[in-house]
Amino acid sequence: MTNTPTERPLVEIRGVNKYFGEHHVLKDIDLDVQRGEVVIVIGPSGSGKSTLCRSINRLETINSGEILIDGQKLPEEGRALAQLRSDVGMVFQAFNLFAHKTVLENVTLAPIKVRKMDKKTAEARAMELLTRVGVQDHAKKLPAQLSGGQQQRVAIARSLAMDPKLILLDEPTSALDPEMINEVLDVMVELAKSGMTMVVVTHEMGFARKAADRVVFMADGAIVEQASPDEFFTNPQSHRAQDFLSKIL
Ligand code: ADP
Ligand code: MG
Repeated sequence: MTNTPTERPLVEIRGVNKYFGEHHVLKDIDLDVQRGEVVIVIGPSGSGKSTLCRSINRLETINSGEILIDGQKLPEEGRALAQLRSDVGMVFQAFNLFAHKTVLENVTLAPIKVRKMDKKTAEARAMELLTRVGVQDHAKKLPAQLSGGQQQRVAIARSLAMDPKLILLDEPTSALDPEMINEVLDVMVELAKSGMTMVVVTHEMGFARKAADRVVFMADGAIVEQASPDEFFTNPQSHRAQDFLSKIL
C-alpha cells in the first residue's frame, strides 16, 4: 500500500521531546509515515502513545524537535492550525460525538463550518460516508441511540468528511464491548485498503496482521523497535517487546 519510497513522507517526526513537568514522556522520537502507509503504535500503558498522536495534530505542544505534515511544520495557532486539524482526522477511544446533534449533523458540522460547504452537498457526502461505514439507517438518530460500535463508525465517518490526508486512531476499539470490536475493525481494514494513511494505536493483532505495514513498539516514551507485523509478533527483538507480547498474547 505504500507509495514509491522516493516521495517525501506524509508525516516527518524529528527528534521530538515532550515533558509534562519533570516527566519526560516522549524521548527523541523519530518517525516517518509514508503516504498510504498504515502504522500501528503498540506498547504498555503510559508509554506515550496517546501523547504522540496528540502531538501530531497539536493537541499537545512539543518541547523540542519538529513534526511536519506534508512538508509543513506544525503551525502554532490560528487559521493554519485549523487547516492542519482538518488535514489530520482523529478518532479517540471514547466516542467524542456531539451528544445533542444527530448522526448526520455530527458528520456535516465541520464541512459546513470549516470548509463552508453548502448544506445539501455536505449532507449528500455525509450519507455516502455513513453508508460506507454501515450506519446510514441511523442518520437521524442521536448518538446515545446507537451502540458503541455504531458510534465509533460514525466518528470515523465524521473524520473522513474533512477529506483528511491522515487519520489518527487512538485505541478506537478498546472501550467497546467485544461483540462490537470487529464491526469497527472491518471499517478500519477497508479504510486501510482504500489507501488512507493511518496511524493506529491498537493492540488488535488481527487488524495489525490484516492491514498494517509496520508496527512501532513504544516503551517509556521511546520507540524501542519497529518491524513488519509478522516479524514483530513472531520474533520481537527487544526484551521490552518480548515481555509486553507475553502479557497480551
Ligand atoms: P499511553 O497512551 O501510551 O498509555 P500517554 O501518552 O497517555 O500513554 O501518557 C504518557 C505519560 O504521560 C504517562 O505517564 C501519563 O501519565 C503522562 N501524561 C499524559 N497526559 C498527561 C497530562 N495531560 N499531564 C500530565 N501527565 C500526563
Ligand atoms: Mg493512550
